[in-house]
Amino acid sequence: MSFCIAIDGPAAAGKGTISKAVAKHYNFAHLDTGLLYRATGAKTFEGLTPIDAAEALTAADLERDDLRTGDAGQAASRVAAIPEVRAALVDFQQAFARREGGAVLDGRDIGTVICPDAEVKLYVTASDEVRASRRHQELIGKGEDVTFEQVLEDLRERDERDAARATAPLKPADDATVIDTSDMTIDEAVAQVLALIDARRK
Ligand code: C5P
Repeated sequence: MSFCIAIDGPAAAGKGTISKAVAKHYNFAHLDTGLLYRATGAKTFEGLTPIDAAEALTAADLERDDLRTGDAGQAASRVAAIPEVRAALVDFQQAFARREGGAVLDGRDIGTVICPDAEVKLYVTASDEVRASRRHQELIGKGEDVTFEQVLEDLRERDERDAARATAPLKPADDATVIDTSDMTIDEAVAQVLALIDARRK
């Protein structure tokens, strides 16, 4: 049996952490779809065109250790605006969403484009400052030399580009439940999400 949980939202809203916790709780597979775009963007650093990079993407590309950097995030958001890049990545994501045993996918367009019939659709968000502060801590922890202001500017730039693009823009699906995690701890957010999913699974 398949069961798709779609978790969308802007950068650094807590989607990744929530998705991993949800997948672990239900023993579902998890796909961080942002990694597909980050890996495509990173391949363009080596001279490939975005479309060639997306079409040639392999599992090994998702293992690169430079995918979580600010540069890879910006490159991801630029290639993600190209319709042919998105088209090259659709089949893989849709097959993942409908795999046996259940799947959690997080991204920007899961509930709107990849899995519009998902059994559960969530849109996880938080204020710009809270998201920037979380991402700043994460990057500092990895040894990146960035200021809070740089991270805030980077997030806003990416969100604006993601929301303004013509193909699969960042926005909640009409039937998504919006969860604002600005004033929640990660444990509180996960507990709220699990309660919501449990109610849907009954
Ligand atoms: O989620 P993450 O920050 O890793 O995503 C990086 C970029 O990839 C986003 O800013 C967005 O442009 C793009 N993306 C997308 N659709 C998705 C997931 C990510 O366009 N489903």
